[in-house]
Amino acid sequence: MKRIEFIKTTALATAGLPLLSGFRIPMDQDLIPKALLMGYANDQLVGTDYQLEHQTWSAFEKMSAAAAADGIQIEVASAFRSYDRQLAIWSGKYDRFTKAGMSPLAAMEKIIEYSTIPGTSRHHWGTDIDLIDGGASPRPKSVLEPQHFHGKGPFCKFKEWMDAHAESFGFFEVYTNNAKRKGFKYEPWHFSYKPVSQNYLAAYLKLDIKSELERLEIPGSKHMDVQFIEKYLQDNISDINPDLLP
Ligand SMILES: [Zn+2]
Repeated sequence: MKRIEFIKTTALATAGLPLLSGFRIPMDQDLIPKALLMGYANDQLVGTDYQLEHQTWSAFEKMSAAAAADGIQIEVASAFRSYDRQLAIWSGKYDRFTKAGMSPLAAMEKIIEYSTIPGTSRHHWGTDIDLIDGGASPRPKSVLEPQHFHGKGPFCKFKEWMDAHAESFGFFEVYTNNAKRKGFKYEPWHFSYKPVSQNYLAAYLKLDIKSELERLEIPGSKHMDVQFIEKYLQDNISDINPDLLP
């Protein structure tokens, strides 16, 4: 690291302490590589069965231990995801929907109810994680369904615990149950480690994502017009839990 960058980072970290109630700012935004933000390469990961950005990993371990002490067994359904993995998810759904007779644009509108365009997933950062109740019995077949987390659903005790404690460990719901929110549908399973992801989002929003998306060669991309891309950036990337915005 160049000396001037080191001074800048250190100054930021120190200045950030009181503002973030004890969390330290992990990195100068200008030092976060585009490859990391778009899922091409991420050298901040730890873990084998699943991978997380290293500070997210430590915070998640603390939260899991606290939950376990209260009798809740937090289970990871999905953590870091690379660009290629996201591309496989996108392509699979695009194929399925268009083969069922949907137009390319209708298929893409359907995909982006729950899945991101490759290169735009918060899972690329290693700061975001899909969580369920590993102790629930019987375990539902398809675990990522909002109704499991409410009423008498199998994950409602987990949800109650997370509502009470997750934010104190730095984990915030991203796609909240707010009728006025646009973009991705409600995901009571998806949490983000704010002390790192807020910084990553700030850096991500400084990229020319529109040009990046226009250059993408993925199924359906030639049918993405300016209107589709602009709406996606506004609704799906930026219309999230306001607590996570830079
Ligand atoms: Zn997720």
